[in-house]
Amino acid sequence: MMTERFEKLYIGGEWIDPIEGEIVDTIDPSTGQPWAKVAYGGAADVDKAVAAARAALEGPWSKLSAFERAAMLRRFATIYDTHVEQLIQWESRDNGRPVRETGPDIRNHWQWYNYYAGFADKIDGRTIPTDPGMLVYTQRLPVGVVGAILPWNAPLLLTAWKMAPALAAGCTIVIKPAETTSVTALQLGKIAEEAGIPPGVINIVPGYGATVGARLVEHPDVDKISFTGEHRTAQRIMAAAAGTLKRFSCENGGKSAHILFADADLDNALNAATHAAFMATGQSCALGSRLLVERSIYKKVVEEVARRSAQIRAGSPLDIGTQIGPHANAQQLEKTLGYVDIGKGEGARLVAGGHRLAPDGMKDGYFIAPTVFADVDPAMRIAQEEIFGPVCSIIPFDTEEEAVAIANGTIYGLTAGLWTQNVGRAHRVANAIRAGTVWVNSYRYLRTAIPYGGFGRSGLGRENGPEGLDAFLEPRAVIMNLSGAYPNPYAS
Ligand code: NAD
Repeated sequence: MMTERFEKLYIGGEWIDPIEGEIVDTIDPSTGQPWAKVAYGGAADVDKAVAAARAALEGPWSKLSAFERAAMLRRFATIYDTHVEQLIQWESRDNGRPVRETGPDIRNHWQWYNYYAGFADKIDGRTIPTDPGMLVYTQRLPVGVVGAILPWNAPLLLTAWKMAPALAAGCTIVIKPAETTSVTALQLGKIAEEAGIPPGVINIVPGYGATVGARLVEHPDVDKISFTGEHRTAQRIMAAAAGTLKRFSCENGGKSAHILFADADLDNALNAATHAAFMATGQSCALGSRLLVERSIYKKVVEEVARRSAQIRAGSPLDIGTQIGPHANAQQLEKTLGYVDIGKGEGARLVAGGHRLAPDGMKDGYFIAPTVFADVDPAMRIAQEEIFGPVCSIIPFDTEEEAVAIANGTIYGLTAGLWTQNVGRAHRVANAIRAGTVWVNSYRYLRTAIPYGGFGRSGLGRENGPEGLDAFLEPRAVIMNLSGAYPNPYAS
């Protein structure tokens, strides 16, 4: 039964019909049935949105004082907060993540807008001492019109990671949500209107990657692409952006190692290990999908992770009692089931899950049981490739050096976790791991002030913290001769 309609794009402060797009069904992944209709734009709509963003950049947005821009972002944060309960329901419907997870997550998003509002009136430069008679200073200018291309696993959070610093920096933005999760992105337009953000500063154009996404990337008037998604898509975007030498930053996937040393506080480590492996139905870039366990506790950890996984409650994402929801879309379910077959074929020992579920009779939902493979060799595909599903690959190790070598032995480098009560080892291993984030005796602690991003194929640049602001600023040096003289070099 169709209950909701989101059939307009948000461009230049107006809700308009797509010029060359279409209206598509968006699917509830817990039932496999459409729950809303959403407008998709096309290339012509992107052109219109970019023109609106450019006009706002050179017009009203640049005319505001830094204090006014900061105040507007704070107002956006406050109004965002009044919408959160609706946003939680819609995001959980759209991508199947249980309200138990989307609730605490989305209720914190205002912090990103508020945090970056604090930077808006503090974007200053330096004076650089050089020679007498010279005045040298730097400025940090907005990079310009930003194209934000988003994935479906945490649409609102990842939009905040881009939009809050971009607007604080003085940029304007065109947001392209993922195909299957456009509803909540469109709602940001309503919040922008209520907050009094000038028309054209925020534009929202849902649609396909191959049309809307690709046009944003090649558009000569888009100055920067900020992307979150799969690393192969990032590679395609980099190649396409080369034509205009666009600024580009990306947050891609990962295959994070979560290392349990024998001296760990095992009960807490097991809480973290299961949560790290199965949160968001495994659809998190920070997933602790490789669990590296010191041999002396290996058997016990395998048994306990398998036992705990089997007890995780699947159900409707809208039910607060549900601990794991469905995959966000049918394609992702097929991908995960494919990797279960690959793991079995590679000779890993399946100790939990590996099959579809139909909780509460939701037989057409994209549910899969939390899956655990033991005796995984680090070279196996299930230990090397990002599955983006609730599949935990447990790998034994004997020494600290071996654990580090396994942890660093993939093309990725986004996050890692380690559990030990030996402070020296904690520092040594954290130091040796090539990843943008290392958690010690903790996992997935993410905050607006902490930079986040990847080494290797996991990404370029950082989001969050002051580093996240720098991604939307272009430095300029102004060099002034105060002496009044410029000798003729050809005089003699
Ligand atoms: P995806 O790469 O398939 O799609 C991401 C976005 O790119 C979508 O909006 C899509 O429409 C668009 N797109 C696709 N082709 C394009 C093209 N040629 N030009 C421009 N845009 C194009 O990723 P996904 O399946 O939506 O998301 C899952 C991936 O995202 C996983 O790999 C996951 O690890 C990663 N991810 C990373 C982080 C992080 O912070 N590092 C966070 C969340 C998700």
